[in-house]
Amino acid sequence: MNKVKIHFLGASGTVTGSKFYLETPELNLMVDCGMYQGLKELRKLNWEPLPIDSSKIDVVLLTHGHLDHTGYLPRLVMEGFHGKIIGTPPTLAITQIILLDSAKIHEEEAERANKEGYSKHTPAKPFYTITEAERAISLFSAEEKDKWIKLSENIRFKFRYNGHIIGATFIELEIFGKLFVFSGDVGREHDPLLVPPEHPKWADYLFVESTYGNKLHPEEDVEEILVRLVKETLNQRGNLIIPSFAVERLQSLMYLLWQLFKKNRIPNIPIFIDSPMGNNVLNVFERFPEWHKLSSKEYQAMCTHFNIISSYADTWKTIDDPRPKIVIAGSGMVTGGRVLTYLKQFMGRSTTTILMVGHQAEGTRGKQLLDGAYELKLFGKYYPIKSKIHHLESLSGHADQKELLHWMKDIKNVPEEVFLIHGEPSSLDAFRVKIKDIYNWRVHIPKLNETKEILL
Ligand SMILES: [Zn+2]
Repeated sequence: MNKVKIHFLGASGTVTGSKFYLETPELNLMVDCGMYQGLKELRKLNWEPLPIDSSKIDVVLLTHGHLDHTGYLPRLVMEGFHGKIIGTPPTLAITQIILLDSAKIHEEEAERANKEGYSKHTPAKPFYTITEAERAISLFSAEEKDKWIKLSENIRFKFRYNGHIIGATFIELEIFGKLFVFSGDVGREHDPLLVPPEHPKWADYLFVESTYGNKLHPEEDVEEILVRLVKETLNQRGNLIIPSFAVERLQSLMYLLWQLFKKNRIPNIPIFIDSPMGNNVLNVFERFPEWHKLSSKEYQAMCTHFNIISSYADTWKTIDDPRPKIVIAGSGMVTGGRVLTYLKQFMGRSTTTILMVGHQAEGTRGKQLLDGAYELKLFGKYYPIKSKIHHLESLSGHADQKELLHWMKDIKNVPEEVFLIHGEPSSLDAFRVKIKDIYNWRVHIPKLNETKEILL
């Protein structure tokens, strides 16, 4: 009898590090290949080699480009993988940007560790280099959504739109007639730039993310909050600093602010976009207009409304600009990026407002700001915080509990088993109970490195 052996190699009992390995009679497949992010204990897991023979993997399928779904790819290649990495065209474009940025950060970190001598290994080695990231990128192979792609005699898959970020999909993987559905990260019903996710209609085995498995996004009026903060900034002749993720969040904020200006709800305040990676992602929006709500014309009009900064010299010109202004800069959780320079200059002033957007993970400066820290360590030194801090919670790329349940509501059959992945233990368990109550499906929460044999 044919069987599939599934290895839960990441995002099992945790949010990050998505990696699912399937051994089948015809091919060995991996769905997503992400890195762990967050607290040090979790990040240490990245350095442990996978408990499988990576050279035996034939194909990696990517649900979307985020680092916690793609960031391990260069290591997989270093461990011997030489197959194909398949994603939608925008997913591969985003993955390329993210892997090169990640490699650059790893190289810089190793260089700093060697200079300051704080690494246990001498010399300190980067997690992967730009050259190693490029080796993974050379294995990319794009496939369009909504098309069955045959991988072998009895295995085929289809990418289906799920509205999480540009290019993002869920995956329907058919193995010997059984349908394995991997949700990827499910997007929102109402997103400024993306249309609502499509829904699976059938799933023999369902793998669902549970990031917000126990939460509902607050009902807040995002436009109203932005209008109020922009007006306050103008009245106080201050600065509104918005740390933002480069992928999707930045483009959504641009779109919302541009719309508010067009509707005459905010005056023409200068808005600076300072995120080299965000600029690259903007190009992906330009290249793939069919993957978001903006037409090419609207996209062009939106971009001309902003001062898009490319060089670090212009960062300093912006800081010296005495006008009240808005600055949107990376990174989203203030773990690095150009926003550090702005905060160093502006967070000691009471006329500054810092607007944190979305979830801020434990151990990040973004979380410290939300928790009311009176000082922040930047570039090795402490700086006092005098500015006001606000939080926009609802602007998230992740479906909440209600939206996740809505996403699976069209599944006509009773799945043999539902696996809850990509969540903290508390949200995984709450979501398990909820799915049982509503659908009465069999739900399992796999542990890290657990394996499961399924007879076909
Ligand atoms: Zn994601």
